[in-house]
Amino acid sequence: MQVSEHKVVVLKYEVIDEQDQLVDRSEDDGPLAYIHGNGQLIPGLENALEGREQGDKLSIDVPPDQGYGERDEDGIQTVSRSQFDDSVQIEAGMQFEAQDDEGHQIVTVVGVEGDKITLDTNHPLAGKTLHFKVEIIEVRDATPEELDHNHVHGPGGHHHH
Ligand code: ZN
Repeated sequence: MQVSEHKVVVLKYEVIDEQDQLVDRSEDDGPLAYIHGNGQLIPGLENALEGREQGDKLSIDVPPDQGYGERDEDGIQTVSRSQFDDSVQIEAGMQFEAQDDEGHQIVTVVGVEGDKITLDTNHPLAGKTLHFKVEIIEVRDATPEELDHNHVHGPGGHHHH
């Protein structure tokens, strides 16, 4: 079965940046499962998987415009310490998730100076060309329930409690 719209695709992957640093990999929490064609992956990865089959191994270079976008220097913002809970220790290098209109984004603390905290709201991988090594573990039809929920159920997917 080929990867096409509304198939569930189960992947193992490894991501390496331009400096040959391992950025992310699937092994730690098992394969990734997603519904193809719904924009759940970055476009460069999703497009490269189209038409591929179970067992295929791919090596894909994804430029920023097909990945996490270019860096936006307006994404650097300075906020007051008082916007954070007193109990939270804020240090440069920390990352946390913030909610915005499009869901969630990853925010990185780039500096702390007195009462001023400088944040970078760019995705940590913005502006980078990423090299993906992908192995397709399984391709199957999504169930009507999975399509309704817009996520995969079971291993590598969503677990309802
Ligand atoms: Zn669900």
